Amino acid sequence: MSDLFTSASFLTLLTDLQQAICEESVDAWPREQLAAMARAGVMQWDVPVEWGGLDFGPVEQIEGLRLLASSSLVSTFIWTQRSAAVRRIAASDNQTAKKHLLPRLLSGDIFATVGISHLTTSGQHLKTPSVSALPDADGFVLSGTVPWATSATQADFLVTGGTLPDGLEVLVCLPTDRQGLEVQAPITLMGLNASQTGAIVLKNVRVDRMDLLHGPIVGVMRSGTGGGAGSIGTSALAVGAATGTLRQFAKESQQRSDLAEFVAPLTAECERLTADLTAAALGTETAMAAERLRQRANSLVVRSAQAWLAATKGAGYVAGHPAERAVRESMFFLVWSCPGSVLAGNLRELSCATFATNGE
Ligand SMILES: Cc1cc2nc3c(=O)[nH]c(=O)nc-3n(C[C@H](O)[C@H](O)[C@H](O)COP(=O)(O)OP(=O)(O)OC[C@H]3O[C@@H](n4cnc5c(N)ncnc54)[C@H](O)[C@@H]3O)c2cc1C
Repeated sequence: MSDLFTSASFLTLLTDLQQAICEESVDAWPREQLAAMARAGVMQWDVPVEWGGLDFGPVEQIEGLRLLASSSLVSTFIWTQRSAAVRRIAASDNQTAKKHLLPRLLSGDIFATVGISHLTTSGQHLKTPSVSALPDADGFVLSGTVPWATSATQADFLVTGGTLPDGLEVLVCLPTDRQGLEVQAPITLMGLNASQTGAIVLKNVRVDRMDLLHGPIVGVMRSGTGGGAGSIGTSALAVGAATGTLRQFAKESQQRSDLAEFVAPLTAECERLTADLTAAALGTETAMAAERLRQRANSLVVRSAQAWLAATKGAGYVAGHPAERAVRESMFFLVWSCPGSVLAGNLRELSCATFATNGE
């Protein structure tokens, strides 16, 4: 494991994030948190060495994500979407795009995000693809709606995809000021509003070969272009959020010894999950094992936040209390980047009728 995570500068970053999350307005773009991450070198983690980055391996990546998320979920989540864009650009054979984008992503001169869920988890029951890609002389013409793109209003580039008439898919990287690309106003969410998440409408957007990152290919998101829906990176975020919640719950229990019996098993579960996360990062886990990990992480983050809220009683239910924020933010994991099996696992747990059958 990299010494970075025990270095004074990284520990200062974690403290700065915890401080900034209290100070920055809950719905405002977390400028100071992202600047602190950039100052601490986080923007280098995912960029390949040949482009000046550190190119963290899976173990460092997962542990870094977990620690960052334990201090601030929203800024870490924003960073993961930028990181997903960086990795898909880095994995492309398009040398021109890499040369044009990676050094500027590394320096922070430009910001990128992904709008790819319509190729994985959103609208999968619909017959017509959300975004169509029609071949033309120089490349493709993209039309449709990218339903979700975090930090869309802040991003200079969008990695997104479309489906050709024959079912093959392409992944492209577009400047957000490309003609026909319309970033919609951010949606009001249950939590994480600071992430500025919204839809992007594409109206006959011309894409040339220089914009093309991957494809045309069957299932472009399954073709080794970076972590997919429900990857262990998403679990790292959930375990990190649970770690942050349990840290605050444990602090509360220091004044209230009656809470210790509830904090202890959740903390032990969190430690087990953290160890399993590291093991998963080290090995070649199957998609099924990764999805099982995500279900467990979802369960823990939701229960930890709700247990803390219950312990804080009515005071915790007042808007602005960190426990109510933790509950709202934990719900995010039930809907974000959940493949079908993770969703089914979550629903199975939530519909478990132990109390109902006793008539209690
Ligand atoms: C805060 C937030 C930020 C996100 N950021 C990003 C991002 O930056 N990039 C990105 O690519 N993705 C992002 N996502 C998308 C995310 O990963 C999931 O893809 C998304 O949450 C799935 O929800 P959906 O409503 O799009 O799913 P859908 O499956 O499209 O469901 C929409 C609605 O359709 C109905 N429905 C679903 N299935 C069926 C069915 N079989 N039959 C009939 N009706 C059905 C349901 O009523 C459902 O409410 C984000 C999501 C959230 C919540």
